[in-house]
Amino acid sequence: MLRGQVAKIDLDAMAGNLEKIKSLRRGGRAVKGGGVIAVVKADAYGHGAVLVSKKLQKEGVTCLAVAYASEAQTLREGGVKGPVLLLFDEDPRPSFELGLTPVVHSLESSRRFSRETGKQGSPIGVHVKVDTGMGRMGLFGDDPAKQIFEIASLPGIRVEGLMSHFSEIGPGNLEFARLQLEKFNALRTELAAKGLRPFAHISSSAGALLLPEAHLDALRVGLILYGAYPFEGGTKVKTKTGLKPVMDIKTSIILLKKLRKGQPVSYDRTFVTARDSVIAVAPVGYADGYFRAFSNKGFAMIRGKRAAVAGRVCMDLTMFDVTGIKGVSEGDDVVLLGGGITGGELAGIIGTNTYEIMTSLGGHARRSFSV
Ligand SMILES: *Cc1c(COP(=O)(O)O)cnc(C)c1O
Repeated sequence: MLRGQVAKIDLDAMAGNLEKIKSLRRGGRAVKGGGVIAVVKADAYGHGAVLVSKKLQKEGVTCLAVAYASEAQTLREGGVKGPVLLLFDEDPRPSFELGLTPVVHSLESSRRFSRETGKQGSPIGVHVKVDTGMGRMGLFGDDPAKQIFEIASLPGIRVEGLMSHFSEIGPGNLEFARLQLEKFNALRTELAAKGLRPFAHISSSAGALLLPEAHLDALRVGLILYGAYPFEGGTKVKTKTGLKPVMDIKTSIILLKKLRKGQPVSYDRTFVTARDSVIAVAPVGYADGYFRAFSNKGFAMIRGKRAAVAGRVCMDLTMFDVTGIKGVSEGDDVVLLGGGITGGELAGIIGTNTYEIMTSLGGHARRSFSV
């Protein structure tokens, strides 16, 4: 018996989402791939980066983006060609070996890339990231323009892109994002005055949905490609057309048991049957990314009905209360995500975000792709 869950990935649904994102984009330069930088870090948010990337390239994206060189290596080994933006990895060598476009976050790391161009005998295009309020990666300090001109003057370095990242943005909460955008645009103006006009991008999924004036030359998006909304509880916002979830995740019932009223289920007796009950056991637990926090709080769809998690989620097993579900049998599907359960809803139950649900449940799943 295989443990854990299976994810069904609907690549056509993703292609549909990509089309919607392209039609959403306002302003900016006309660029190849419709000005979409497709973020496929963390194994494409648990969807499987190689096949997802190939499909996205087939449908047309401006480039792909990953967090670390090891992820880019997986793509290259999987036969993914074309431009890949490297978001957080400033080790110079892999960018040359794998043909990547690194994001640089400081003058110092830019110098390291410059020295490597000498060794490799070839120049490299980079995107410079500026910190406009995220307080994470990116150039900071009083005079980012000065630093960028210094970077641009380093031997072998071509500043092709300029980017930043919003820290706080949601429906009815645009104030800080607008401030960050203002800073970013002021910097662009300063650079342009001296003839430097890099390809500019600041919006991830939330900015793409909420702040058209921040669309600039490209949308750098992950979550909405996968058909989810980046807001609390997965709140939907009005776009012209809805996004379609790409991933369904299910496991199955390996054992059904009838318990009399008053019997405990799982560790610590946190669940005691309030009536004569039918309890289903599924071969999935927190080792499979099904959070222990779902204990007595989560639910799954079984035969089209909601079944609540009964008692503690264990490392390798979880119990669901299926009392009253007609015809329930061993071998039945237990749908953990999809079938009316959204990542946003699951996230809301345990106080996390859809990103963590996707990377955790999807990241541990075996996958089947419908193309
Ligand atoms: C992950 C990430 C994105 C994509 O964010 P989504 O909300 O999934 O669209 C964009 N830019 C950076 C720098 C990121 O780390």
